[in-house]
Amino acid sequence: MTYAIRIHEYGGPEKMKWEELPKPEPKPGEARVRHEAVGLNYIDVYFRTGLYKAPALPAIIGMEGAGVVDAIGPGVTEVAVGDRVAYASGPIGAYAQTRCIKADRLVKVPDAIGSETAAAMMLQGMTAQYLLHSTYAVKAGQTIVVHAAAGGVGLILVQWAKFLGCTVIGTVSTPEKAALARANGADHVILTTEDLPAAVKKITGGAGVPVVYDSVGKDTFMASLDCLAPRGYMISYGNASGPVANFDLGILAAKGSLYVCRPTLATYTSSREDLVSCANSLFDVVAKGGVKISVNQRYALKDAAQAHIDMEARKTTGSTILLP
Ligand code: NDP
Repeated sequence: MTYAIRIHEYGGPEKMKWEELPKPEPKPGEARVRHEAVGLNYIDVYFRTGLYKAPALPAIIGMEGAGVVDAIGPGVTEVAVGDRVAYASGPIGAYAQTRCIKADRLVKVPDAIGSETAAAMMLQGMTAQYLLHSTYAVKAGQTIVVHAAAGGVGLILVQWAKFLGCTVIGTVSTPEKAALARANGADHVILTTEDLPAAVKKITGGAGVPVVYDSVGKDTFMASLDCLAPRGYMISYGNASGPVANFDLGILAAKGSLYVCRPTLATYTSSREDLVSCANSLFDVVAKGGVKISVNQRYALKDAAQAHIDMEARKTTGSTILLP
């Protein structure tokens, strides 16, 4: 048997139930992973509330985990029993002591990286990787805006952008988070109570920035557009404050021929080749010391509801793991 957090209906954190379930057996192409740590991500909140739909209910939520392969199904070539592995992709099902997943979604974790760090870094770190290298490839010397700069993805984005030679303007909601963002390399930190476009114009001598990485969504979307230089890129990659709705494309013309992209990690790691390349790039920057993974919160997996409450209340910083 194994234990997992399941939801039987969408709703608040109280919908998450710690339940005993039969241990799953791997099907062809699948590996079974005994989790040593599970990553907490904002997307888990979207699946719990129903903003994003589970394939069926009841459902085990969660997209990220790290541990040891303890069984493989027929035809698996990517991993073997005993390998230390991690993953950061659907289908959901990570909030469990043990789960099965397609073996081609797993990557082997370097010896220097422990399972807790792996579970903390894969989803948020690979997101930072594709955002900075593919969605909009930043160049040394550019000034960029990163929202929620003390959060999971945010703290990695700030460090990696600095490593690539950018000047980083971060946004955060509290002075404590501002200090954390600065300690991780942010050159300028703007509080969410301040006028962001005015601050960005002042810092850039009126020019604006070539790219904004916006994970907040509804509350910041329009202000983010006003931070951009003509032909700038608005990368809207999350909805922590709610989704952006009913957007008039004509606004992009009026504000200077702007681009908007709504990317997802799933697209950028859909092939095995892209997944492995993205993960290796992340492992490499961590090995070089360009990005340090901050595991700032740890909860027992059975207390995942409390982790969700804290994340939604904006109390978490950096990465959070759930321990099975
Ligand atoms: P974070 O640790 O960044 O937590 C969310 C942060 O958003 C909060 O700490 C808070 O920072 C900020 N925030 C602003 N407004 C709100 C609000 N109304 N309610 C709650 N938080 C708010 O989470 P993650 O690092 O896990 O994810 C960050 C974002 O990136 C999420 O939107 C997530 O969906 C998205 N994401 C997208 C991916 C993709 O491929 N598209 C992949 C991974 C994540 P502050 O208090 O400083 O404002």
